Amino acid sequence: MLKRLLTPKFIVSTFVVGAAVALTAADAAKKGIGYTTTPLIPGTKWHVHDGDRPVPRVVTPAATFSHQAPPPSDAIVLFDGKDLSKWSGPKGDAAWKIEGGYMEVAPKSGSIQTRDKFADFQLHLEFATPAKVEGNSQGRGNSGVLFNGIYEVQVLDSYENPTYPDGQCAALYGQSPPLVNASKKPGEWQSYDIVFESPRWDAEGKIAKKAAVTVIHNGVVVHHRKEYQGNTPHQRNGDYSKPHPPEVFIQLQDHSNPMRFRNIWLRKLGEYDKP
Ligand code: MG
Repeated sequence: MLKRLLTPKFIVSTFVVGAAVALTAADAAKKGIGYTTTPLIPGTKWHVHDGDRPVPRVVTPAATFSHQAPPPSDAIVLFDGKDLSKWSGPKGDAAWKIEGGYMEVAPKSGSIQTRDKFADFQLHLEFATPAKVEGNSQGRGNSGVLFNGIYEVQVLDSYENPTYPDGQCAALYGQSPPLVNASKKPGEWQSYDIVFESPRWDAEGKIAKKAAVTVIHNGVVVHHRKEYQGNTPHQRNGDYSKPHPPEVFIQLQDHSNPMRFRNIWLRKLGEYDKP
């Protein structure tokens, strides 16, 4: 009950502001699972990274779905386990290490991104969070798949690892939790099959079509053509104030955890009646 009453509005109107805000921040820090002082997400009653947002139910995925799926004939192979030639890093070539058919984040080497850009596409990739569990919440097995570096599908070890729901694995970071939690255990390979549609702006720079994403996580639909409300920053609401071309790069995030990725390929969606 008390927690329910400790909304920022109640605090400001009822307590000495400084002490009350400190109390709320301390409470959030103790829980370690969210924020109470961030803005409301438009169209929802939840704050960005709200620890009180409903936690998606757990669905145990089957052992495999599209794991090790070979690319179809028209796919562009972005990583076949052998080299990072299709990717670049902050200092030029991507500096993540390759072993055993996968790439692994070399912490502090920076996020990597595709050299080429694509507009609307189907993306397959696989990832594994570290088998040795270290940290908790956002500090445990954190990475991300980011389109144009600004629209994130979160990658996190969300197997029995509470965090704020809009930051758990497969969340549209800071905007929407996944429909369900289909995460596998730490160290196990997981698959993402993603359909991404790029945003479009009109000639006046107004958003005409929001970015939208469909995500199948280990064979389980966790987003169905879900629109991004804009970019996905930390602790803030995103927006579409900065138009960009529909062709976007794909980025894999270095969040200082030794995450692994393998078997990454992409198909352009194309259009009906335009073979
Ligand atoms: Mg992330």
